Formats: sequence, structure tokens, C-alpha cells
Amino acid sequence: MTYHIANGKVVSPEGCELNVAHHCNLGCASCSHLSPVFRRSFIDPDTAARDLHLLARSFAAKFVKVLGGEPLLHPRLVPILHQVRASGLAPHITVCTNGILLPRMREDFYAAVDEIEISVYPDRELDDEKMARVRAYADEHGVLLNISHYSHFRYSYAEHGTDDAALVRRIFATCQIAHVWRCHTLYEGHFFKCPQSVFLPQVLDGAKPLWTDGLRVTDEPDFPERLLAYLQDTEPLAACRNCMGSVGRRMPHQQRTRRDFRDLQKHSTEELTDHRFLTLLEERPDADDGCAVESADAWQERLRDRAAAAVPVPAPHAPRARKRS
Ligand code: SF4
Repeated sequence: MTYHIANGKVVSPEGCELNVAHHCNLGCASCSHLSPVFRRSFIDPDTAARDLHLLARSFAAKFVKVLGGEPLLHPRLVPILHQVRASGLAPHITVCTNGILLPRMREDFYAAVDEIEISVYPDRELDDEKMARVRAYADEHGVLLNISHYSHFRYSYAEHGTDDAALVRRIFATCQIAHVWRCHTLYEGHFFKCPQSVFLPQVLDGAKPLWTDGLRVTDEPDFPERLLAYLQDTEPLAACRNCMGSVGRRMPHQQRTRRDFRDLQKHSTEELTDHRFLTLLEERPDADDGCAVESADAWQERLRDRAAAAVPVPAPHAPRARKRS
């Protein structure tokens, strides 16, 4: 299913994302939102309300994902969730979190969401007692808990990028973030195909305008048509020159500091490309990226193996090496 216009709105088969805190309480290597290099930075609730209501006039999504960074860090998260609901942009609200701060969330939070997606990373999970409390709150409020365990990431971007236009086209064409998961992002009055095109330029080209790859949201009569054309455009974005899309090499999940986060990425796109996965995605666009662990037993087994081997992040020329939204 693709996009279409109905009742004057672009109808999406997937969602829309709102990043409410750009920093995080973790420092995952190759985080696709580059959160470890962002200092404490929160979305302004009034700006969010303005953008959500304006976009809702021209766009209908199945769900809104509220994420970051770590969204639970935002001190005014609940009022923002109320604005998401009031906008009517989508009938379903999901908060995506690493779960660490969930035990401190109260009734008003659970009453404001429909679903909580928890991405669990090695050595960063809640103990059984805290998790039981989170489950009880969620049950009480009819909130769906969706828990995924990630043992691996894929390299998310390459500091040196590439001048190979054909490779950039292949990375864009196979990008699950833009075309399968459709992680379209609302950011400061602009609509972006993906969060990477919001955050990568801010880190790599801080002095350049941040709006190159986005579309300014307006209430002009032709905006729905322009939004549809933007979503259906097959030309790569400017950010795709440095972004690995879905095809960065796979690597074991690791924590990094703000200081050394970018060091890991100081390679060309060619060096960080998983060519076998790129070819696979050209045949099967929704192929699994191999980063999530399938079951609780497999998760425990991976943790034991990891502790035994103390697995280091491989150098980019090693066979393999990213985050999801
Ligand atoms: S910048 Fe390009 S390759 Fe990266 S997520 Fe966005 S569309 Fe995909």
C-alpha cells in the first residue's frame, strides 16, 4: 500500500514521528538519531502543538510515534502527548523508549498513550520487579507493551560519505527507514522522510541550513499535492550521501561516550556497506536486518556469550557492522 489523497489529506499506510528529546540517557554506538552527540535538548510543547495541528490538516497517519533521544527525559511529555491526541493526526500514539525511566512514569503518562515500544539493549534492562510494575500499570490502563531486544546495530552513517552517485541511489532505494517503516518525521515546522535527514546535517554540516531535505508544512491549498509528490520522489536526499540507510555493516551493540561516538564512524560509505545485505534488500525490501533477538531464551544465551567473549566493536573492514528509530 502506498500514499494517496482522500478528503484533502495525504493518507499514509504507516506513521509519523515526533522527536521530543534529542539527547539520551544511553550512548549506543552508531545511534541512527546521533543522540549521544546531542546535548540536553527538548522540543518546545507549543512548537510541537503548532506543528501537529498544522500537519493534521493535510496528513493522516495510522499512528504517531513519540521518541528521541529518550522521550521519557522530557519534563513536559504528558502535555505533548495530549497535543498529539488533540491534533487528530493519528488514532494511535506510541512512545518508543529504552525503558530505563519507565518505573518513574505515573498514571497520567499511561492514560495518555496507546502503546509503549521498549527497545532493550544488553546490560540495560529493568529488573524483574520494576518490569512487573510497568506491566501492571500498562495492564491497568489498557496500554500495549511491545518489547524488543537488540543485540546488534548496523552502522548508521559514514563521516566521509561517498561520491559514488550509483551507490547513494542503491542505499536510498533500499532504505527501510524511508520506504518500509516510513519513519517520516515532523521537526520544527518541516516534514522529513526520515529522522536521519534531520539529525545528520546538524552534526556533519552544523553551519548549513537544516531544511535541505525537508518540506515546510503550510496550510496552503496545494500543500497536500506537494506533500504527496515529496513522499513519492525517487531522488535520494542530500543526507543519503553520508547515511548508510539499512545497509550499514552489522556490529554487536556497544555503549560509547560523547567524545568517541563519531570516531567509530570515521570511514567512507564504501567501507561501512554490508554489500550482501544491500543485494538482499534489492530482492526483498522488507528483509530482516538481523539486529533484534528472536526470543527471551536467545536473549539470555546472547548475554552469556557476550559476557564470556567480551565482544569488541569490530573494525569496519571486519566481516560485518546500526539503530532503529
Ligand atoms: S538519509 Fe537517505 S538513506 Fe538515510 S534514512 Fe534517510 S532516506 Fe534513508
